Amino acid sequence: MSYQLSVTQREAALSALGEEEFDCLVIGGGVTGAGIALDAASRGLKTAIVDAQDWAFGTSSRSSRLVHGGLRYLYQLDFKLVAEALTERGRLLSRIAPHLVEAQPFLWPLKQRVVERAYSAVGVGMYDALAVAGAGFKKTVPVQKHLSKKAAIERFPDIKPDALIGAIEFYDSRVDDARLVITLIRTAGQYGAVAASRTKVVEVTKSGGRVSGAVVEDLETGNKITVKAKHIINATGVWTEQTQDLAGSTGGLKVLAAKGIHLVLPRERIKAEAGMFLRTEKSVLFIIPWQYYWVIGTTDTAWHEKLTHPVPTSEDIDYLLDHANEVLATPLTRDDIIGTYAGLRPLLQPKVLDESKSTKVSREHTVTEVAPGMVAIAGGKLTTYRVMASDAVDFALGKDDAKRRPSITADLPLLGAPGLEAVRNQSERLGKKYGFDADRMKHLLSRYGSEVLDLLAAIDADPSLGEPLQAAPRFLRAEVHRACTVEGAMHLEDILITRIRLNSEARDRGASAVDEVADIAAEVLGWSMERKEAEKQNYRDRIAAELAAEGQPTDETAAAARNEVSDIVAAELN
Ligand SMILES: Cc1cc2nc3c(=O)[nH]c(=O)nc-3n(C[C@H](O)[C@H](O)[C@H](O)COP(=O)(O)OP(=O)(O)OC[C@H]3O[C@@H](n4cnc5c(N)ncnc54)[C@H](O)[C@@H]3O)c2cc1C
Repeated sequence: MSYQLSVTQREAALSALGEEEFDCLVIGGGVTGAGIALDAASRGLKTAIVDAQDWAFGTSSRSSRLVHGGLRYLYQLDFKLVAEALTERGRLLSRIAPHLVEAQPFLWPLKQRVVERAYSAVGVGMYDALAVAGAGFKKTVPVQKHLSKKAAIERFPDIKPDALIGAIEFYDSRVDDARLVITLIRTAGQYGAVAASRTKVVEVTKSGGRVSGAVVEDLETGNKITVKAKHIINATGVWTEQTQDLAGSTGGLKVLAAKGIHLVLPRERIKAEAGMFLRTEKSVLFIIPWQYYWVIGTTDTAWHEKLTHPVPTSEDIDYLLDHANEVLATPLTRDDIIGTYAGLRPLLQPKVLDESKSTKVSREHTVTEVAPGMVAIAGGKLTTYRVMASDAVDFALGKDDAKRRPSITADLPLLGAPGLEAVRNQSERLGKKYGFDADRMKHLLSRYGSEVLDLLAAIDADPSLGEPLQAAPRFLRAEVHRACTVEGAMHLEDILITRIRLNSEARDRGASAVDEVADIAAEVLGWSMERKEAEKQNYRDRIAAELAAEGQPTDETAAAARNEVSDIVAAELN
């Protein structure tokens, strides 16, 4: 069995944090920090990573869930960013995480016959060419196809016939963002990284003018631990400025928070084989199919409220419905929505900030020294986490050390990737043995890759785990069990938001599964009856607050409605 994030592992990690000296302490367990922890650990550096919340609870569980080059950046002539992202897309699809990252076709509907088709074809053609070049002249996804109106409607029967005269079909890919982060943390753990969630950096220590470590607080107990570290890497996304301020220096990054929201709809609501990519007046809109639902996003507006709980407003929801309805034959209504979520883009702030232009701020990342011994990295995107990680560790080590210990992650598979093909080839046989149909096996392989064998071994040990959840039958009880024993869930919300994502993927936000999921978690995590009830109540209150926020017209009133409910473990990040 490979590396497990669990309550016991976390206890051991907290002890190690106080006893050992680390080469590298990473603050922030979003995709950037998780990537840095893996990069550093796999270079042989003694590495620790902490997050004040659950893994991926910040922006990294609230994205559009795409691993993409970003066609829109091509239209901003940002070739470097697109080429880099497409190269990473190729690596993730073929070697690093082929179980988690899946190629996805999209239609780009065209309205004008000649000029637009030629213009779009050149753009998408360049996109394909950059991808092929980045993958060493191998194709990791099919290249663009030009479709007639009839062919496009066959691929997307629910499109309004007058919304297009034809389409270009091109490929990008999609990923469960939070699952990617948790898999990165576990893979880093496999190579020796020490990892503790709900552990907040509250102080940065210095010795002789250099950063020497940090004081972290175990938010579950309130215990404080002094961690010694030669280098600190601050990967705290929209919280970058708050964290770097702890070093009491004037160096560092300025980061702007821009909100983007998504809607989740049932898969059967839109009949289509491909996703859709639309250009809007401000940005782009994606309509993205998943096995059981659709994700539609996103928006891009400045956010001035507390950073911890960004929420969609009724205006944001109407914006997305209106834009999607411009092309959908049967208009979507609010009743179709089964979930929503909002995230904050950590956009690097230019010197002179004009918020109304936040869509124009570069998505590229920057690494900088905050103080001797501490660097900060922000910007970038989920897709380019590996490059960001390698740049951050190189920068922290300095040229000479970085040359001696280069990054090796370009070819390093994440847990679940080795042996994937061999396990995929057994899928039918395994499905028969356990009574799982092809859809279930597809779902399991896309979540666990070759580690599905560990999940099945857990079912062998306790056959009741092979039963589906009564209220959410597409998940097995074994998946909840694994969330707690292997994937580091410590609270009910950790399971329902980032691991079994019913919070955004079920119409009742997971409410009807709360009792069953809490029963499984309570047994594994040793909760008392009182604790179990408190976890359930907190989660239900949270859903009520999220729903109340969605009805509000402004960010201010929506955030106030959401913040009526306190967190099960207060991270007190603003
Ligand atoms: C709406 C939206 C859609 C997007 N879609 C895509 C997409 O489809 N594809 C793509 O490639 N990119 C996408 N992005 C961009 C991508 O999601 C982000 O760039 C990325 O997730 C940022 O990750 P991060 O690790 O830097 O920040 P975060 O995920 O926010 O992580 C920062 C972490 O730091 C922790 N932290 C803060 N302070 C402390 C402290 N004192 N001590 C310990 N921990 C602390 C927080 O708890 C948090 O978990 C999207 C972004 C948004 C907002």
